[in-house]
Amino acid sequence: MAGTVLTVTSGKGGVGKTTTAANVSVALAMTGQTVVVIDADIGLRNLDIVMGLEGYILYDLIQVVEGRCALEQALIRDKRLDNLYILPASQTKDKMALAPEQMVAVCHELRTWADYILIDSPAGIERGFQNAIAPADEILLVTTPEVSSLRDADKVIYLLERHVGLPPRLVINRYNVPLVRRGDMLSRQDVLDILAVDLLGVVPEDDEILVAMNRGHPIAFDQNAYASMAYHNIARRILGYNVPLMPFRDQTLWQRIRSWLSF
Ligand code: ADP
Ligand code: MG
Repeated sequence: MAGTVLTVTSGKGGVGKTTTAANVSVALAMTGQTVVVIDADIGLRNLDIVMGLEGYILYDLIQVVEGRCALEQALIRDKRLDNLYILPASQTKDKMALAPEQMVAVCHELRTWADYILIDSPAGIERGFQNAIAPADEILLVTTPEVSSLRDADKVIYLLERHVGLPPRLVINRYNVPLVRRGDMLSRQDVLDILAVDLLGVVPEDDEILVAMNRGHPIAFDQNAYASMAYHNIARRILGYNVPLMPFRDQTLWQRIRSWLSF
């Protein structure tokens, strides 16, 4: 059976595509699936850093498509999960160094042995976006509950429906319960009413996600961490299970309780 290509995209930059791609890849691999995550953000390579694998890069995606190395030579096997691989982007070339047909060809080869291939897209809706969506079987659209992010997400939904006929599945990232309760952030339902697409998951705003990424050890590796649950739920929904949304807690209150308890 051929593997499935999941492209993680957003339109707007900085909303959590790389964070989502890294953590969902880890969570899927932890269920036993063979996963390859491709950094398609050419020129701004950072997936390898957040995965803690930057020291192992020998070749990159551009060298593969230019025929300067074999695909297997450029793949880096994760040091914690041996069924998880990353294909790094090049740091030097720009997005025009890659064409959509080349991404399709790379994924075609990976599909023969990997169960899931995740593509981490660059920001924007230009060439880099075209490259990332060309081989996609499914699109994971990441948005934060902010007006500017939703506007870009809406544009992406329109482009996807028009050009590839694929309705995306939505990941709402940086969901902040106290702000929603105060009426200072759009709720999950507001976001769904605006975008009218299927919800794949909601990821809370959580400093542990950021700290873990900075350490090169995505939070999804730590199954006991609160925010990790959001990624494991997303992975199980991708696998076809019907998983309810996790209970969201008030992070500000939680941190206060934790600091009281430590006295
Ligand atoms: P993109 O790939 O869309 O540009 P990133 O995944 O690099 O975005 O995320 C941008 C920043 O936001 C990073 O510093 C990341 O650690 C942080 N971040 C992403 N998601 C969350 C979250 N749910 N909670 C806290 N910080 C987050
Ligand atoms: Mg990114």
